Amino acid sequence: MQAIKTTGYTIYFNEDCYGYLQDLLASENYSGIFILADTNTSQYCLPNFLAQVATELPIEIIEIEAGEVNKSIETCIEVWHALTDLGADRKGIIINLGGGVVTDLGGFAASTFKRGMDFINVPTTLLAMVDASVGGKTGVDLGVVKNQVGIINNPIAVLIDTQFLETLPQPEMRSGLAEMLKHGLIADEKYWNNFSDLTGLTTDDLGALIHWSVEIKNTIVAQDPNEKGIRKVLNFGHTMGHAIESQFLNSATPLLHGEAVAIGMVLESYFSMAKGFISKEEYEVIKSAIISIFGTTDFTSNDIESIIALLVHDKKNERGKVQFVLLEGIGKAVINQEVENILII
Ligand code: NAD
Ligand code: ZN
Repeated sequence: MQAIKTTGYTIYFNEDCYGYLQDLLASENYSGIFILADTNTSQYCLPNFLAQVATELPIEIIEIEAGEVNKSIETCIEVWHALTDLGADRKGIIINLGGGVVTDLGGFAASTFKRGMDFINVPTTLLAMVDASVGGKTGVDLGVVKNQVGIINNPIAVLIDTQFLETLPQPEMRSGLAEMLKHGLIADEKYWNNFSDLTGLTTDDLGALIHWSVEIKNTIVAQDPNEKGIRKVLNFGHTMGHAIESQFLNSATPLLHGEAVAIGMVLESYFSMAKGFISKEEYEVIKSAIISIFGTTDFTSNDIESIIALLVHDKKNERGKVQFVLLEGIGKAVINQEVENILII
């Protein structure tokens, strides 16, 4: 698969990843390699990754606990200490091997340690491949507030090896699929059409869709790296999605990010229909495609209808002025839209 060149770095796919890495480590005068993994990726991904890296340089492993609760400044401090104890200097390179938690936190730790070290993202979840590892956003949560502290700083490369997905649990796969659907809805109808029927999807097909998704995200980010305008379209489904995610945070069955975003996309498509931006038919197409993928979660179309009904009757929303990204069609998003009038119809 063709590498994707973007502002300041390149995204490599599958076998090309290791050739690039080999050349980089042979040509740059790095003092050491520090691989950041979490408790799962050190078990499932690290052995395969190490088997592909041939270098004379010393390799140190830094492991953090898996899970969003560990995307914190406390964990980042642990990483800074580990780097210090291992004698890291600015000429070292950090390789973030993991999902979005590892790439976000590792990118932030690398960007701040000794005022900045080189880092490479090696995403191992579908969500991190199509979303978190690309675009330069790094950071940590502060208490329950997501991504409160961070910096936009690009890796020197992103290495997407889809083989890592073989050990990824199905709910995590679905979580990543939601962001892929989002890319289709906001920017590319042709891409979206691939998701109408996922039966018989081969690993190669999935690889091609991941590549396409990265191209879509990258094209948007390249136009607006600091999210002053157009990059906000990537937040489609996330305003409602984050609300739903928080609502279920402490429940017995918390929703994964992508599952919440999937519901958020249905709701925000509903708002788009209510504003007259998309037709009822388009809304129904979006809703049924999302439900056909996410139908095995606890959410059904009835639940979605009742969430919409609750929102419609929620008096708190009457004077709320939340800004949404809405759809003007499948493959076309528009930013900075208020929906207060819709909520009181
Ligand atoms: P995650 O990193 O928590 O990974 C999900 C789970 O899968 C974890 O338990 C992890 O240990 C495990 N795992 C990872 N790879 C595996 C593999 N190959 N096999 C088996 N298990 C594996 O979560 P995520 O969904 O990858 O990322 C979510 C995070 O990404 C959030 O913190 C979110 O804010 C962030 N994010 C950032 C951006 C950005 O632009 N920087 C964009 C989207 C999301
Ligand atoms: Zn998201």
